[in-house]
Amino acid sequence: MPSTPAEILEHTFGYTQFRGHQDAIIHHVTEGGDALVIMPTGGGKSLCYQIPALAREGMGVVISPLIALMEDQVNALKELGINAAYLNSQLNSTEVFRIEQDIRQGKIELLYIAPERLIQDRTVHLLHQACISLFAIDEAHCVAQWGHDFRSDYLALNILHEQFPNVARIALTATADNRTQKEIAQRLNLDNAAHFISGFDRPNIQYRIKEKNKPKQQLLAFLNTEQPNSAGVIYCLSRKKVEATAEFLTENGFNALPYHAGLPALTRQQNQARFLREENLIMVATIAFGMGIDKPDVRFVMHLDMPKSIEAYYQETGRAGRDGEPATALLLYGLEDIVKLQQMMETSQGSDEHKMQERQRLNAMLGLCEITHCRRQSLLRYFNDKLDEPCNNCDNCLTPAQTWDASQAAQMALSGVYRCEQKFGAAHIIDMLRGSKNEKITRFNHQHLSTYGIGVDISAQQWRSIFRQLVALGYLKADPSGYGNLLLTESCRPILKGEQTLFLRKDAAKPTSIRQKSKALDIDDHDMPLWMALKRVRKELSDEQGVPPYAIFHDATLKEMLEKRPTNGWELLSVTGVGDKKLEKYGEYFLEVIHEHEYTR
Ligand code: ADP
Ligand code: ZN
Repeated sequence: MPSTPAEILEHTFGYTQFRGHQDAIIHHVTEGGDALVIMPTGGGKSLCYQIPALAREGMGVVISPLIALMEDQVNALKELGINAAYLNSQLNSTEVFRIEQDIRQGKIELLYIAPERLIQDRTVHLLHQACISLFAIDEAHCVAQWGHDFRSDYLALNILHEQFPNVARIALTATADNRTQKEIAQRLNLDNAAHFISGFDRPNIQYRIKEKNKPKQQLLAFLNTEQPNSAGVIYCLSRKKVEATAEFLTENGFNALPYHAGLPALTRQQNQARFLREENLIMVATIAFGMGIDKPDVRFVMHLDMPKSIEAYYQETGRAGRDGEPATALLLYGLEDIVKLQQMMETSQGSDEHKMQERQRLNAMLGLCEITHCRRQSLLRYFNDKLDEPCNNCDNCLTPAQTWDASQAAQMALSGVYRCEQKFGAAHIIDMLRGSKNEKITRFNHQHLSTYGIGVDISAQQWRSIFRQLVALGYLKADPSGYGNLLLTESCRPILKGEQTLFLRKDAAKPTSIRQKSKALDIDDHDMPLWMALKRVRKELSDEQGVPPYAIFHDATLKEMLEKRPTNGWELLSVTGVGDKKLEKYGEYFLEVIHEHEYTR
């Protein structure tokens, strides 16, 4: 029976080394200390509570907001030979009864439970009858009231401290800026917890942010040239757009499904289950989808609308490439996104203080979109982390952005807004600047303005790019009450007066595709037959067991088999991700496939 953390790591999980802060965290929690852990997605948070729970006496209780995922999480642990269970509303009363009995008898090593269930009297009573090794509060940022995933049930979790003052607690999350970190510590009474803040970098994710031009074409071009057979997530702002986009992709031969809060619960559940089990499914979704999705082989996350903060953006893009293999995050954004978000924010409920924070967060997001230097350096700086050299794996590093002196064009644009009395949106002002004769122009007599037709040498698309950047940089802003009309801000004065030069980014005329370092997983051609064969056995076993393929072995594990070509159990055990239990259960199937290939080569 393994007992030290190092032994559990090797025998149960099949890994040889701790990563990053894992060792320190696991040591601290195994000794009974409280901890607040901030670690990027894919960093290996789960082991930070799973190993201490196994190393300590009693049952570890994991609080997670997503009941839809519990079954998969528990099944994956069972695959490792761990006695795990979950309690949620999906179970019938007989199953609940049986699990409760197992808990009282001390048979369960890890219990997954949703916060709303945990705080019920019945559950608290039950837990008092058990020996508890620790509480792990996953997705702890949900406790932050103005955060992007707030769940009111999380606020009640301070009962853990009151009811079980001697049980160690570990709170974990992937993305929390300083403000959110403080809020988590305060609301969960984690005053004496050790803080473990890992770097936020996700080096295997390639960040790209592009002007939204013809989004459907851009989407197809991206999928066809870069990710033809990959699993990915596409985020849209509205439910309607989610459905239309999923339909559009299906018509174009892709395997795509919608996900948003307006779909029946059963459909959502089925779509999510398919996403986890199938290997090349694209989920088109609102932000309702994704928190806690621990599918490791998501190869891309695409945003067809702009997220409202860098935290949200980083959390969503972070769902790509958990397995550490190359992945892409592509955001398309345009002026209409900015206008829409600014209006939503200004008209939202909430105090002035809250609105001001939201405004700062949106502005930071806009800043990220418009910068011309390394995106990753800027992202990391936002989370108070830093990268000394440009990353060489973002669009700005790979194809340096060009800028041009746009002072004069900006002057025209701003005067145009002024002449139209700040009552019109970009589309109309562009028509006016370009001397259009359309009905709206004549209806408002705008053909007589001094700015009419002065911008005819600049294309409508270029003008849109100019307006977008002027809004993003804060020289213009959307009128909160209106229909997308633009207002001048105080800061545009020096430009209007010609006292300040302004350099803007040149948007690529047509969508260029970046030379991909990140084309899905790179497998050598001559390794392809064995690779496919390994994936085939994995799929057969996963269907047989009713678990996702990655719960059998990850892609990274299969890739290592490809390199090492193990010929016996000992050699197979040296492959990362192969532990005692999995060797026993599945070893021979994979060894057989490898053997056949070596023999027939
Ligand atoms: P997070 O919850 O932080 O996003 P996970 O706990 O899901 O990350 O871990 C991400 C991936 O890394 C998982 O596939 C996990 O099995 C793997 N992993 C975690 N720790 C290690 C380690 N020490 N060695 C090898 N692989 C690890
Ligand atoms: Zn970079």
